[in-house]
Amino acid sequence: MSTQWTRRQFLTRVGAAAAAIQTFEHLDFCCVLPADAQTADKDLFEFKPVADGVYAAIAAPRYKVNSNAAVILTNDGVVVVDSHSKPSAAQALYKEIQGVTKQPIRKVINTHFHWDHWQGNQVYAAASPTLEIITSERTKENLTRPDAGVGGLSFIEKQLVNVPKEIDQLKDEIQQASSPEQKARLEANLQQAQAYLEELKQLKPALPTRTVASSVTLQEPGREIQVLLLGRGHTDGDVYIYLPKEKVVATGDALVDWMPFLNDGYPEEWVQTLTALEQYDFTHIIPGHGEVVPKANLAFFRGYLTDLIASVKKAAAEGASLDEMKKVIGDQLAATYEQGMSKYPLGRYRDRIGQNIETVYQKVVKKS
Ligand SMILES: [Zn+2]
Ligand SMILES: [Zn+2]
Repeated sequence: MSTQWTRRQFLTRVGAAAAAIQTFEHLDFCCVLPADAQTADKDLFEFKPVADGVYAAIAAPRYKVNSNAAVILTNDGVVVVDSHSKPSAAQALYKEIQGVTKQPIRKVINTHFHWDHWQGNQVYAAASPTLEIITSERTKENLTRPDAGVGGLSFIEKQLVNVPKEIDQLKDEIQQASSPEQKARLEANLQQAQAYLEELKQLKPALPTRTVASSVTLQEPGREIQVLLLGRGHTDGDVYIYLPKEKVVATGDALVDWMPFLNDGYPEEWVQTLTALEQYDFTHIIPGHGEVVPKANLAFFRGYLTDLIASVKKAAAEGASLDEMKKVIGDQLAATYEQGMSKYPLGRYRDRIGQNIETVYQKVVKKS
């Protein structure tokens, strides 16, 4: 079982991690920026019960991020939502699942196509020959098309080119480290990057075997599981996994407990899609990243998107430059959102706000 951090241990490590994260800000790594290795527990997950037979595997911060997973037990097997960024992480969770049931994994559902949510699929496919991997039609297309964003087969190829460069950069930074602490931190990051690259080279990607074009109910023995398609948001293929009896929803990155990643997103439609999700009766959200949160967090997260879009539109109409927007809007929204969007070493408000403003400007104002 994983060791839990005390709140104090966690908070003391956040400052150093934020500094390290800055170093990698230019790298375009999906949903999060790489975390500092020293923030990471040895274990990959904290495995937490959310309802009877429903668990959330909350990913620990790692240099190469992992998504959360939801684990849903049925009477004759297990359904897993999302499979992390690499097979070793999926393998670790698979072992954890075997600690609560010896039943086979029947289904994996991928919430969207980003690299940190599906690159571990192969572990479950190897363990269960009859495994179904389910996603939306659009997500399957994104996984295989050459021009998709930060996920899918084409992104594996891009990472195989980029991670070695990142490793070289880390080596340079180690040479220039100004303190033993910084050096040790960078060396730990280097080790994780090298291990990740080795896994990436060996990857045998397991693509979805079943797609859905609209919302469906999976009638699993003893468990009703709905796969909801509610519109575009974080990507154009997001699905939500909803358990009506347990009142739990797993959202992938359409709702995270940190700053959203907008680059493959549809900001205005995202707001509407979250409102559609809000109509469902649930009490707990298993987000794509961060801790399990209550339903009230949906309004907070959506409020950020709504206010961000409105602020960028207004500033653009008033003739503000992008640099001015980043400064003014970043400070304006901080009063409402900085604290709630800066709970973890990853995806903090100040790390992301500039990029979010720029993305909304491009997608909503310039519509490019
Ligand atoms: Zn993610
Ligand atoms: Zn994502």
